[in-house]
Parts: sequence; structure tokens; C-alpha cells
Amino acid sequence: MTPDLAPETRAFLARRHALYVDGAAQPPARPATLEVTDPATGLPISSIALGEAADVDRAVAAARRALHGPWSRLTADERTRILLEFSRLCDARARQFTELAVLDNGMPRAIAESTAPFCSQFLRYYAGWVSKIAGRTLPSAGMGKRPGELQAYTLREPVGVVGAITPWNYSFGMEMLKIAPALAAGCTLVLKPAEQAPLAALLLAELATEAGVPPGVFNVVTGLGETAGAALAAHPGVDKIAFTGSTEVGRLIVHAAAGNLKRVSLELGGKSPVVVFPDADLAQAIPGIAMAGFLLQGQNCVCGSRVFVHEKIAREVAEGVAAFARNMAIGGGFEPGTMIGPVISREQRDRIERLVATAQPEGARLLTGGRRPREAGWFFEPTVFTDCRPDMTIVREEIFGPVIAIQTFADGDLEAIAAQANDTVYGLSGSVWTRDLATAHRMVRLIDAGQVGVNVHAAMDPTMPFGGNRQSGWGREFGEEGLELYLKTKAVTITW
Ligand code: ADP
Repeated sequence: MTPDLAPETRAFLARRHALYVDGAAQPPARPATLEVTDPATGLPISSIALGEAADVDRAVAAARRALHGPWSRLTADERTRILLEFSRLCDARARQFTELAVLDNGMPRAIAESTAPFCSQFLRYYAGWVSKIAGRTLPSAGMGKRPGELQAYTLREPVGVVGAITPWNYSFGMEMLKIAPALAAGCTLVLKPAEQAPLAALLLAELATEAGVPPGVFNVVTGLGETAGAALAAHPGVDKIAFTGSTEVGRLIVHAAAGNLKRVSLELGGKSPVVVFPDADLAQAIPGIAMAGFLLQGQNCVCGSRVFVHEKIAREVAEGVAAFARNMAIGGGFEPGTMIGPVISREQRDRIERLVATAQPEGARLLTGGRRPREAGWFFEPTVFTDCRPDMTIVREEIFGPVIAIQTFADGDLEAIAAQANDTVYGLSGSVWTRDLATAHRMVRLIDAGQVGVNVHAAMDPTMPFGGNRQSGWGREFGEEGLELYLKTKAVTITW
């Protein structure tokens, strides 16, 4: 069911999309296009230009010129004003962003509606940082100089031209995690959005120009990962790559970046633990666990896909989560009340099915879900398995679908429980559900992840650093740490 779309959304979908380079739409070097489909129907809704290496060259050259152009001569106050205006324009287009996300990404409308204001909030947060970027005065007294005979200080400078490569799952939300701090730091960027949900990136670039971001500062090259993405990651004119996506592609990015040793930040996969103690408030925990696993059809890097429950409450929790799952309305993102939309593509739906098919032969017990609820579109039921063990495929592999695997633990020391929770190559997120302060604080320290919640899973806020340990990535986005990714330090000594 497609509702009455805003006229501007209809017009945007009907456009012949180009790349966005140097402040304007520009056709790609070769006139190839890719259809963008609605995952709820599998039908085309628009198309994008397929940029390639030559287009990446052009965009990087524009970003390099812009780095040394008017952008570098703005005062902090001027740059802040531009980011605030960009934020205001994003708010003004919230409906269009929402509709695009439902259509190209398959987001349930309620999630898309909450992602749009998050983007403008993120811009406002980093707009506030622009005027706080400052070096330090240092007490250096080398070279036989006495205090007062030498001045030592640091300057904070933008790292330069940034290549941002982003996934489809929160499309413009993910893109903003890179755009806002990069612009705040004074960098310029070339964004390669995911080919599955690429539309909002083009709108963001237009709004940036409208807000006063000078031409060439923010460029978008739509295209495939293997071509446009790989060319950007390897490009000698790029100073830093900011990547969010799979661990597998993260590894390719690291190799590609080695040529000119560009900086790399990576936000990769996860297999996050949710640990439920017997004193937890189950009225809060059960919906919390279900949403940790099923939000956006489980297509979250922070997805709470490995649930560990104390054996005393295991049955009640498993049945509670399964009952929650059965009550989740499945449908297209525009259908009223939808909680589970389609997954992104046929390939992804088929992959989820293949992984789920391993569960019962390996000894897991299916409590609910496990099937396609309808044939049209790429839907998969929210699925709960119990009797899981650490060596099972569904416990080890990141599924990126609505699948929760429940294991149990017995009374024992917290180190042993945490060791179970940490038994994965990832370390992105985790949560602990308990009313006991000592258990909460001790488990927070024992869980090896970039983010841990107590009685909440994966809380996100612009002020809170976010990123992974181990194979979940390098570096932290959000917050002051997120700004640091886009700054470099110059040490200055002056003698007289
Ligand atoms: P997901 O599992 O979320 O689809 P991917 O890691 O496959 O994540 O993709 C994330 C982003 O990385 C997308 O923009 C995709 O086009 C891009 N990408 C895929 N392969 C490569 C590659 N070899 N080099 C650079 N970027 C790539």
C-alpha cells in the first residue's frame, strides 16, 4: 500500500538522477543506471547513475579544490551557521526523507520518522563543536631555552578529503554520522552511499548546497561497492575513509587504503549479547529483548541476536519474546501499525533463510517464525530459537535478519557468564538486564564491546561515542570522539 506521497517525493523519484559533484548534478562518465527497488514489492521506484572510477576521480578532485577554497576561510561562526541551516532544511524535508526511506530501504514508517529528526539533531550537535575545536599551549622548553623564550602549541586541522562509504540500513542516518563531523572539522567529502538505498544521499547533498556549503565540499558518487566504492577506498587523493558496513568489506577497505596509508575508521558487524539475570524486571526486559533483536527486521549492526537468560527464568523469557514476535504486525512500511517491514533484498531474504535452515538440524528449537509470511516482497517472520549452543551457525554468524538465538546460563561467577557473552569475534554492543547495581556495574566492565546498556539495548545519542571492539571496527563515531576522527594535530614550536 503506497499512501499519497508528498509531491516533492514523487517528483524526486521521477527524476533522472545524476551524481552530485562540485555543487551540482552531473552525469556519470558512462551513462549506466541502476534500478532502485521497493523491498516491500520488489518493484522499481527510481534509478540512479552508476558512477565508476573516473567519476570518483572527478569528485575527489572537486573535494581537493574545495578543501583549500572558501570553505577553509570561513570563521567558526560562519561554518556553524551553515550547519545549523543544513539542519533546519533537513527538518523541513522530514516527510520526504521518511518517505524515501520507507520506499528504498523498507523501513517501517515509525522508524523512518524517528531517523529524520535524528539527522538534524546530529547536525546541530556538531554545529556546536565547530567553535570548540582548539589546540593547546604546551610547556615545552627544549633546545636550551628557558620559559618565555619559546612558544609551543598545537593546531587542530581537518584531515583533508574524506571518502565516506555507507550501508543501506539507516541510509541517510548512517550518512549523517560521517557528513556532520566531517563538515564540522572543516573537511570535504565524497560520499558513496549504498546502492540499495541511495536516494536520500542525493537529497542531502542538494540541501547542503542550499544551506551554503560551498561547491565541492560535499559530493555524492552513487554506484556499486566493487567499482565506485573500491575506487574511493583506494584513491590516492583521499586522506581518510569512513566506512560502515560488513566486516568482510571492512577488510577489503583496509587493504585498499594501504596504498597511500590513508586513515581508516570502520564500523562493522556485530553479534551482540543480551544477558538477562533472574532479578530483571521482565515486563521491561521482554519487549526490550524482542526489539533488540527485531528492530528494522534485525538489520542492525547492534542487533541483540545472542540472548543469554538465567535458567530460572529462561522459559518465561523465551515464551514472552516469542509471544511479542507473534504479535508484531508484518507489512510494508506504509501499512498502519507495521512493526516488521521487508528485509532489504531477495538476496538478503534468501541468506536469512539459508542460515535459519541450519538451526534445527544443529539442535536448536524453533519457538516462532522461521518462514516467509508472504511471497511478494522480501519479508521474513520474526524468529525465536531456544536450546542454542555456542557452536551453532545462527549463534556465530551475523544474520542481519529478525532472528534471536536464546542460550541459558546457571548460577555462577560473573566472569564465566561474561565469557559466554564475549564468545564471538565481534564487540560492538551488549546489554545486561538486572535490578542489582553490583551485577550491573561488574557486567558493564566485563562485556567486551564499544557500547553496553543496562536495562536498555543500544541506546543512541549524538553525545555518546559509538563503535566496536575486535572485528566490529576501528574508532568511535558520535560525540567528541566522532569529531576527532576528522581532525589531525600539528605541533608548533616558535623560538625568538
Ligand atoms: P551491507 O552488508 O550493509 O550491505 P556492505 O559491507 O556489503 O554492507 O556494504 C556497505 C557499503 O560498502 C556499501 O556502500 C557498498 O556499496 C560498499 N562496498 C561493497 N563492496 C565494496 C568494496 N569492495 N570496496 C568499497 N566499498 C564497497
